[in-house]
Amino acid sequence: MNTSDFLISVHDLKRQPGEMLAVERSFPNPERIGIDVIAIEPQTPLSIKGKVESVSTGVLASFTLRSEATGECVRCLDPISLPILATIQELYFYALPPDLDEDEELPQLITEERIDLLPPIRDAVILDLPLAPHCTEECPGLCPDCGEKVAENPSGHDHQRIDPRWAQLRNIAGIEEAGQ
Ligand SMILES: [Zn+2]
Ligand SMILES: [Zn+2]
Repeated sequence: MNTSDFLISVHDLKRQPGEMLAVERSFPNPERIGIDVIAIEPQTPLSIKGKVESVSTGVLASFTLRSEATGECVRCLDPISLPILATIQELYFYALPPDLDEDEELPQLITEERIDLLPPIRDAVILDLPLAPHCTEECPGLCPDCGEKVAENPSGHDHQRIDPRWAQLRNIAGIEEAGQ
């Protein structure tokens, strides 16, 4: 697994506020990004386009991420794919701000003159993905009786269902019949 494609050298910004560098790269996604039911799988093409600007406390990365998430419909289990287009902005600090609140999330840091775009990408993608993805808005899912896809046979799932109380009565009747 090679996540170094997400690393960007900010050496050329030379800590000069106002300096800027363009970022544009495409590569196969090195690791699964997403949630259980849907994710950008490894090897899925991924592209990043934007810029990194030098600010007084660090650098500000602003970019769009394009890729594709795949998973399955939670109702009918058909494979589905979702285009991913996320706009991401993240501030990376040279050092931890001294006025950081205890309960505040730790900010991203510039390490060895590089920034890592993967953590904010992971956060943005996870936030963007539907918790219950489905193939179509009106996907009827699977038949609770036979487990087949309702969409493939919309009228064929009128399974005879016997109310359990009636079933019991029938049993009793059956016993009486048998006893005669
Ligand atoms: Zn479905
Ligand atoms: Zn059925």
